[in-house]
Amino acid sequence: MTLGIDTSGIGKKIFDLAAEIFPICRSITGTGVRETLGILGLHIPLEMREVPTGTKVFDWTVPKEWNIRDAYIKDTSGRRIVDFNDSNLHVVSYSRPLRATLPLSELRKHIHVLPDQPSLIPYRTSYYSETWGFCMADDQLRSLPDGNYEVLIDATLDDGHLSYGECVLQGESAEEILLSAHVCHPSLADDNCSGLAVLTMLAAALKDMPTHYTYRFLFAPGTIGAITWLALNENRASNIKGGLVVSCLGDGGGPTYKKSRRGDHYIDKVMAHVLEHFSPSGTVIEFSPYGYDERQYCSPGFNLPVGLLQRSQFGKFPEYHTSADNLDFIKPEHLDASFRILINAIEIIEHDRRYVNLFPKCEPQLGRRGLYNAIGGDKDAPSKNMAMLWLLNLSDGQHSLLDIANRAKIPFTMIRNTADLLVREGLLE
Ligand code: ZN
Repeated sequence: MTLGIDTSGIGKKIFDLAAEIFPICRSITGTGVRETLGILGLHIPLEMREVPTGTKVFDWTVPKEWNIRDAYIKDTSGRRIVDFNDSNLHVVSYSRPLRATLPLSELRKHIHVLPDQPSLIPYRTSYYSETWGFCMADDQLRSLPDGNYEVLIDATLDDGHLSYGECVLQGESAEEILLSAHVCHPSLADDNCSGLAVLTMLAAALKDMPTHYTYRFLFAPGTIGAITWLALNENRASNIKGGLVVSCLGDGGGPTYKKSRRGDHYIDKVMAHVLEHFSPSGTVIEFSPYGYDERQYCSPGFNLPVGLLQRSQFGKFPEYHTSADNLDFIKPEHLDASFRILINAIEIIEHDRRYVNLFPKCEPQLGRRGLYNAIGGDKDAPSKNMAMLWLLNLSDGQHSLLDIANRAKIPFTMIRNTADLLVREGLLE
């Protein structure tokens, strides 16, 4: 890595961090978010922001704070047949507090199951309507006898705060690269403990490194968090040169890059290049106004150059938003690969520049300078020679190294290393 980042064992480190935050019951507000940010903040300089309930943020209002201590469904013998302590997915996120005894026929109206995946617990939320509910395996619901059930949701919905975390790594330039992950899902590993852990380890790797751009890492609850950040930072948004929302970075699918709304922005070119050369199984898909917080960053009033990086696409894998999105579903090697995609993208963003060929009239004599032979016997020699010829041909002050790499279909790293050689030889400046 030319950024000098030590990536040895990084997949395992990311996995361990994801595993540490996995059990926490997060939602769009509440102590679960704060606790998660507290753990991420042990690795990076993370500022926690607290925005009061009722704050107007564009067309939205910061909601009440939701906190939950316990929840269960007990049968007539007093046994907990559904227990929040076994899985926080059992309670619909943002459920209002409740203590009641109900017949199964009434209780059923508030129970969510997945008939097509009868052994899994679904993940459900009720953020903007005051209701309550439980989630359980369809197999279990079918096995319940009729009768009365005691139901408790020991939760509070009060005025409080929306919390988000921000880590800003100042570079030479005020221009920023935004890296954003949602922090509002409870025990779901791929969506999105993986994204939180990958970005935290990326920030940890970059934090002591001199960079040209400023890197802003944002860990905010989905939708309302990004809207809140944009509302409070409207004047900063124009500094964002490019950005990525990340999610689902630990599974074995993809990788997938969804373009920004602009579609042909610099970040889109960088990500297309990285996927083509470093992740041959990767695909690039067009923007759509559905997904994660790129929806907010790419809303027409901002139209920021922010795309979405995932491995498997959300909603398209069977584990998505179910209890099967657990720590068995994500793997260190996939987290490692996702980390490397981001590092490769940052390498390009940091080192891309335009050069001028100092010998533009006909080709300079490379053999005399020992440049053709400098790499004799090297299996990469033919592409290195091509890299040299492309660089000399296109370094007219108009084409950047990435433009040249794309035109030549040669990885950016090789183009960049060859450019360094030609600069040392006095052929480029
Ligand atoms: Zn989700």
